[in-house]
Parts: sequence; C-alpha cells; structure tokens
Amino acid sequence: MRIAVLRGPRAFEVVEEDVPEIAPDEVLVKAGACGVCASELDVWEGRGAAPFPLYPGHEVSGTVVRAGAEVRTFREGDVVAVWATGRGFAEYVAVKAEYCRPAAGVAVEEALAEPLACAANAVELADVRLGDDVVIIGAGFMGNLVQELVQLRGVRHLVVADTRPDALERARKLGATRTVDVTRESLPDVVSGLTGGVGADITFEVTGTQAPLAVVGDVTRMSGKIAIVGYHQGAPREIPLAQWNWMAFQIVNAHFRDVNTIMRGMTIGMRLLTAGRLSLQGLVTHRFGLDDINEAFATAVDKPEGFVKSTVTFPG
Ligand SMILES: [Zn+2]
Repeated sequence: MRIAVLRGPRAFEVVEEDVPEIAPDEVLVKAGACGVCASELDVWEGRGAAPFPLYPGHEVSGTVVRAGAEVRTFREGDVVAVWATGRGFAEYVAVKAEYCRPAAGVAVEEALAEPLACAANAVELADVRLGDDVVIIGAGFMGNLVQELVQLRGVRHLVVADTRPDALERARKLGATRTVDVTRESLPDVVSGLTGGVGADITFEVTGTQAPLAVVGDVTRMSGKIAIVGYHQGAPREIPLAQWNWMAFQIVNAHFRDVNTIMRGMTIGMRLLTAGRLSLQGLVTHRFGLDDINEAFATAVDKPEGFVKSTVTFPG
C-alpha cells in the first residue's frame, strides 16, 4: 500500500509499505479520505517538536475491510469515521475499533470525527445555555463547527467575527444573527450595542492567533466565559490578565487530551452528523490525491479565497 511520510519541512514523500497487521481489538480500514488538520501545519512547515521522519494524519474515514477477533462493534463493509493516532495519510489504516464511529450516509470526506469531537467538547465544556449571547471569533472550519453546535443549543445573539468576507458570508448562511468584519467594524461596539452594554455570556476564540486575545475581554460580560478553542502554537501569547482578573472571567481551555473525552465528543458529533442535525456540506472545499499531499498542506497554509478545509481522498 501507499503511505505519505513527512521527510522534512514541506516534504511529504509517498512510499510503499506492507498493509498493516491488525491486533485482535483493531479493524483494518480502507481509506476514503483523511482531512488536513490545522494542528498539523506547524509540523509540515518544520516547526514541530518531534524529529523527522513523521507520519501525520488523524482525521480518517473509510470502510472496514477486516475486523480483529475481539471486535464485535464493526464488520467488513461498515463505513466508519476514525480518530487515528497518526499514519492516516495511507491507503489502509489499522486502528482500535473503539476509535471508530459509524458514518454510513455521510460523504466520506465529511466524516470528520476528530474535529467534530473537539467542537462538541468545546461547546459542552463552555456549557452554552438557552438564550445566551455568544461571540465566535474565527469563522474557519473549526469556527463553523462550533457555530453549528452553539446553534443547536439555542442562543439569542450569535455574533461571528472574522477578517475574511467569504468566511463571514458562510457564517451568515450557517445562521449567525450578526457578522462583523473586524477590519471595518469594532467588534466591542457591535456586541455592546446588541447586549445593552453588558457583553457576551460566552466568547469562543477559534483562530489560534494573538490578535483576538486582546479583544475577547472587551466583548465578554463580567463573570462570563472565554473559551480558547484555537490551537495556539509558536511564540508565547500576551493576554491582558489584569482585565481578565478584574472582570472575573471564567477561562475555558477547550483543548482535549484525555482519550475518553475525545471518544465522548466523537460519539456526540457523529450521532448528530449521521442524523443530519449537523452538516459539513460545503466545508471541505479542496480535495487532493495522495500524490498531491504537499499541495493539500500548502493550500491549507495559504488559504485561498473560499478555502475552508482540504482533504486527501483515495479512489474507491
Ligand atoms: Zn485534527
């Protein structure tokens, strides 16, 4: 089978390997797609901590072609969404059956269990309540998922901020009650106007960059919640901690490492997705074959107009 190995910065190479053996608690999945995750871009550009060669890829979906002797939950032919712990950009992936969720009826490149798990866990941990006023800063792929899940909770004002007109247009179509282009409008002024000067109950930071960290405190009410969903890598960030202290904000670190938590989020996300309560239609905008995996990553870094998420797909 073919698998992509990252040999150095921006240098994936596709190599031949044996199809992996499976343990009794594992299934062998024939890949349909593997999403390119924002959390992998630093590694691809050579800013990761681990030495090369590396085998990224964790957002796998495909079809079970073999099940281990102990596996009772899946059988040959089942379509699954998988949280792989690496080696995902490959034609076949061996993975614990418990890391799979049913994905029948979902377009294979949209069966993205791991990002759904992160978004579901973020909304659960932030505990969005009926009638809350919510601000989401960042209308990329993860921001869109958080937005859809927040909407299922039933909020009052849902303000989405970004710098890209195409991203804001998408947020509007998904159901934002107000969008703010922060290059043209003051987000604090808009939120203040909508909330009678009080501020949002919850603000989600979903960019992973420095700029919004200076603003989240200006749009959140006293004792409100600031949820950090963005994946913050690289240089240390600066935050106005005096303001965050004084305003008694509750800080929600929406990053999840505990496997049981990730699995619970996957179950929530895939239940909603397969039931049609949540849709990723139109969010996977760029598809590449395995041979073009470097281009898939370059596109995710460059974010051309209309870009939301790229994926590597495998011919059926
Ligand atoms: Zn991911």
